[in-house]
Amino acid sequence: MSERRFDVLIVGGGHGGAQAAIALRQKGFAGSIAILGDEADPPYERPPLSKEYLAGDKAFDRILIRPESFWMERSVELLLGQRVVRIDAAAHRVETDGGAAFGYGQMIWATGGSPRRLTCGGHDLPGIHGVRTRADVDAIMAELDAVTRVCIIGGGYIGLEAAAVLTKFGKQVTLLEAQDRVLARVAGAPLSAFYEAEHRAAGVDLRTGVTVECVERGDAGGLSVRTADGGAVACEMVIVGIGIVPAVEPLLAAGAAGGNGVEVDAWCRTTLPDIYAIGDCAAQANRFAEDAVLRVESVQNANDQATTVATLIATGDAAPHGALPWFWSNQYDLRLQTVGLSIGHDDAVIRGDMAARAFSIVYLKRGQVIALDCVNVTRDYVQGRKLVEQGASPPRDRLADATVPLKELL
Ligand code: NAP
Repeated sequence: MSERRFDVLIVGGGHGGAQAAIALRQKGFAGSIAILGDEADPPYERPPLSKEYLAGDKAFDRILIRPESFWMERSVELLLGQRVVRIDAAAHRVETDGGAAFGYGQMIWATGGSPRRLTCGGHDLPGIHGVRTRADVDAIMAELDAVTRVCIIGGGYIGLEAAAVLTKFGKQVTLLEAQDRVLARVAGAPLSAFYEAEHRAAGVDLRTGVTVECVERGDAGGLSVRTADGGAVACEMVIVGIGIVPAVEPLLAAGAAGGNGVEVDAWCRTTLPDIYAIGDCAAQANRFAEDAVLRVESVQNANDQATTVATLIATGDAAPHGALPWFWSNQYDLRLQTVGLSIGHDDAVIRGDMAARAFSIVYLKRGQVIALDCVNVTRDYVQGRKLVEQGASPPRDRLADATVPLKELL
């Protein structure tokens, strides 16, 4: 049987993959396009998984990135339920776990990452769940009625958003974070302290600096999470949100440069011919972090990189990727909006009243604004973007005065 070939083969059906196909057609690309993904569903939004979808407030068809008919109408073929396991970069050919093979003209690698799993004893016991796919959340929801106590491992956005939803459901939630504060990877210490207090006030037993030793079967069919300090958390469900591992094995095995992700240039080109990489799995020099090579794990980044690659493929000409990072998280009635990258900041100015639950944290490096975390203050988020984009250096006392609009500090 002859092998099928696509002018553009997109591997990964998440936000980046879907947006690449959408943007290719928008830019007038007329060649054949396929999205090959390991999940059974057409592309859907991931942020609601730990928020509205888990809460039961949005049905699955409301989180589809596009209605199913869209892909057919645009002649974007969906090759679902399969994963690329081997790449022959010279032959422009991939093989899948199901034994199929596809040729490509250009390939866009948009596989994101797999949730990091526990590796300790009992890591595979029933009742332990990740939160990355629809199937993960469906499995949680199917068990939830029989659950009173949930132990969440990891205090990143997955863990905190899940804790907010589950406490609302009346579950007793214990959250264990290995670092000495939650959100340590992505936010400054004042924001971590604020969210820790909010979760505790909502009834979450939140513990930091706690390492999990193992998970065991507990009493009455439950589970027991044993910690290195000799403690044990009894529960009926464990939710693990301890980060992701970029899914780049086949690319690295084919010779692409990388390690923690695959390295790409400013146009998202890997070191292999005609292969691009975008989204959580792509490591790229970031102008908002003094050109440090980073993987930015966000929907915005996946979408913007997808648009850069699609523009380049469709028109032969695209500006280098350099979009300003932004991000959001909903927990309880708190809407966090982040702009810029706070890594490496040497000063943080708080605007507004944390106790009133409406404030912003402005991160500075050598006096320049590099990022903002805004909680229930959309105005600061919108106006603060410009400060970050322009690398503004406003006086500290003016920044700290919440009555001074940020747009006056440009
Ligand atoms: P994350 O942001 O990397 O946070 C995971 C946290 O768990 C880290 O602080 C990590 O510490 C800690 N941890 C690691 N191993 C642990 C262990 N054995 N016991 C206890 N804590 C441990 O990852 P995530 O929350 O799982 O989220 C996964 C991805 O989804 C991220 O890209 C995230 O940004 C994204 N996401 C985004 C949203 C949103 O847009 N609002 C919502 C949910 C998820 P170390 O740093 O030391 O490993």
